[in-house]
Amino acid sequence: MTHPLLDLPPLSAARFAAIEDRVARLLGTRQDVLITQGEALLPLEGAIRAAAGPGTVALNIVTGPYGQTFGDWLRDCGATVHDLAVPFHTAVTADQVREAFAAHPEIDFVSLVHAEAATGNTNPVAEIGETVRAQGALFYLDAVASVGAEPVLPDAWGVDLCVIGAQKAMGGPAGVSAVSVSERAWARMAANPRAPRRSYLSLLDWKERWLDAGRAALPHAPAQLEMLALEACVERIEAAGLETVMARHASAAAATRAGALALGGGLEPYVHESRDAAPVATTLRAPADADASELVAAALAAEPALPLAAGGGALAKEMIRVNHYGPDATPEVVRGALAALGAALAERGHPTDVAAAHRAVAETYADSGM
Ligand SMILES: *Cc1c(COP(=O)(O)O)cnc(C)c1O
Repeated sequence: MTHPLLDLPPLSAARFAAIEDRVARLLGTRQDVLITQGEALLPLEGAIRAAAGPGTVALNIVTGPYGQTFGDWLRDCGATVHDLAVPFHTAVTADQVREAFAAHPEIDFVSLVHAEAATGNTNPVAEIGETVRAQGALFYLDAVASVGAEPVLPDAWGVDLCVIGAQKAMGGPAGVSAVSVSERAWARMAANPRAPRRSYLSLLDWKERWLDAGRAALPHAPAQLEMLALEACVERIEAAGLETVMARHASAAAATRAGALALGGGLEPYVHESRDAAPVATTLRAPADADASELVAAALAAEPALPLAAGGGALAKEMIRVNHYGPDATPEVVRGALAALGAALAERGHPTDVAAAHRAVAETYADSGM
């Protein structure tokens, strides 16, 4: 008996290349786009290890936990690293980046996370890109949590290495990812004797064996199920329209913010300014005398399907994450999350007004025309 997930015809090189081209169109890029057969950490690490070495002077912008990881990889590569860390409740500004360049004119690599699902902030990449171009540095961007939720435009913004994953706002599979690579970035890698070669992390191997060989034959067995799921998810975005998918995320984020404020009970948006708040996910600050992870556990006990999580690590006590992305970027999810959190707060002696929260959600959606 044939099984729909198991007994598939082989995925051809042509199909693999066509999926890459579709992802490139989604990013509006003319750069090389490589699909990488693993979660997004694979190209995130592969790109840093390929592009950075002992001669590199990096500005590593830290607006959440991923930025910290990138700094660790950069130091491990032997790069000199200047960390620019901003509090997780805000975003970095182009002025802060410009000041860092003035203080360290030798900076030739910049790493930045566009949006952080883990902290709920988003950074002004277009403006930062202008200053990075003026500096002449190589620009590495983690757009895993922004793609599908807000514009990601590597060519327009001068991004040299742009990494995406499908499992957040794209509503796709987690086991496959992609990176767009500029000519400058390839040149930097080719000049780096420490860039991984004959390694699972090697982007240069894929360039040599796949891109430069005309994408005629796959160097490894393709991750077939993930590739088909990626194709399906890009197809679904194209059918709905990327603008529509992004608008769903923006509305969900705005409604969650407005709804949390109307809910009361001491809940507040974690990111202070709405312009710094990521459309992909909204973080909320629990009242000082309540534990965020307990509130989340209580809400999930009542409504297990809600995309709620407590903050990671040290943030677990104070941060609640509403992961309203992909199929969860809907008014129903936003309403459900606020109602469940409202009930959990009320049970713990923090009076809330769920009806007011629902009215604020409805008004926000009405204002956004959705
Ligand atoms: C989720 C996320 C990742 C991790 O992607 P994986 O595919 O789980 O490795 C990386 N960066 C950011 C900003 C994310 O939000």
